[in-house]
Amino acid sequence: MPNIEQGGMSVSKETIKEFTERAEVFFKANASLREVGTAGWGVGSDDVSLFPESTLEQDLANLAEARAWANCIFDAGFGWITGPIELGGRGLTRDHDIAFRKLESRYETPSRSVYGIGLGMVAPTMLDHGTPAVTAYLRSMWRGDMVGCQLFSEPGAGSDLASVQTRAVRDGDEWIINGQKVWTSNAHLADIGEILCRTDPDLPKHKGLTAFMVDMHAPGVEVRPLNQATGGAAFNEVFFTDVRIPDDHRLGEVNGGWGVALTTLMNERASIGGGSGGVSTINLSRLIEMARRYGKANDPLVRQQLAAIVIGTRVASYTNMRSMARVATGGVPGPEMSLGKMALTNNLLAVSDLVSSILGPRLVADTGAWGTYAWCTYIMGVAGMRIAGGSDEVLRNIISERVLGLPKDPAPR
Ligand SMILES: Cc1cc2nc3c(=O)[nH]c(=O)nc-3n(C[C@H](O)[C@H](O)[C@H](O)COP(=O)(O)OP(=O)(O)OC[C@H]3O[C@@H](n4cnc5c(N)ncnc54)[C@H](O)[C@@H]3O)c2cc1C
Repeated sequence: MPNIEQGGMSVSKETIKEFTERAEVFFKANASLREVGTAGWGVGSDDVSLFPESTLEQDLANLAEARAWANCIFDAGFGWITGPIELGGRGLTRDHDIAFRKLESRYETPSRSVYGIGLGMVAPTMLDHGTPAVTAYLRSMWRGDMVGCQLFSEPGAGSDLASVQTRAVRDGDEWIINGQKVWTSNAHLADIGEILCRTDPDLPKHKGLTAFMVDMHAPGVEVRPLNQATGGAAFNEVFFTDVRIPDDHRLGEVNGGWGVALTTLMNERASIGGGSGGVSTINLSRLIEMARRYGKANDPLVRQQLAAIVIGTRVASYTNMRSMARVATGGVPGPEMSLGKMALTNNLLAVSDLVSSILGPRLVADTGAWGTYAWCTYIMGVAGMRIAGGSDEVLRNIISERVLGLPKDPAPR
């Protein structure tokens, strides 16, 4: 196990076996095992919401807890497992990363979902397109000290992202930003954001865009929460008034922002659709237990629905593994990532249908019973998941045109 000294930190090239053994020791010392199935029913929180439904105070408390856990993981050498050593990563393989995540899912640990967008979509783009001034942030992001957000969508630019109107105008070594973004998840907690701006309104719309990293605490950045029907406020409007960004915080070339945005979008689809295929082991065991408790375990339709969910999840997970294997051997996430995201939303919908069949009216009237009414926020969240990161309709177009090679959708006149 050769050691490489890096910035005072000793970085080891561990085998998967050595790595997993060390991770097991780490988890045993820092977390307790998660109870699943019958033993887990009624134990702990029954929250299954897909989006945070908390107040700002709760969000801040959750962030503090997530940060302490992310710091602990990073300082033990499990933070940025696949990252380049010179930037603060461990330089290990994706298999090491998968082994760590598998282990983590068996333990009761604080959620790190607040870092999902920053690490899953923005950080890979920073690594691919960032200057040294930009990549210098990556260590803090992976250690959990900085939260990242994605500032793409605008009131007039969602599926048609190339219609972005937020302006960036050059002023010497800086850019001045004016405009509005919308649906920005976690902007109220973020320290840094990837923003897509129009830098040349005279060029065709895909060609006049440039991407930057913006300091979310800079003067002129105003974040306003958007309240969800389910009670929380996980999304925001963000207004930019004469916000200054140094040119070394530009991602890629001037007017090359579309290519940068595509890197983020493909990583977004990989990140949303990747992993377990939409149904975690813990949720699966809850569903099975729920069917037993509510007398549906022998109902042939419910059994069929459960089997379809298990099959759909497995297939999605293997499809994701195949795509990720290609990425690991030097490829970039491509249009096939849309398949993973579609599979995820289909699986989430199947879970919603199953839960509705089992719980019926318990979903809409809170009886106080553990693990019942809590599914209401999940079912309402599925609608949001079908839009975030590319709507079902737009992804179907991408799959048919760019994966299957079918004729293009006629453009509206
Ligand atoms: C939960 C959630 C989190 C989000 N987080 C972020 C974030 O952090 N940062 C960010 O920048 N954005 C975020 N978004 C915004 C998201 O990217 C947009 O909502 C999405 O791109 C759709 O854009 P739109 O809402 O403007 O809808 P539109 O683009 O106006 O679409 C409206 C409807 O028309 C359909 N449609 C549009 N074009 C076509 C077409 N060519 N063919 C067929 N049907 C079409 C769509 O499928 C949809 O049903 C988030 C959205 C959600 C729901």
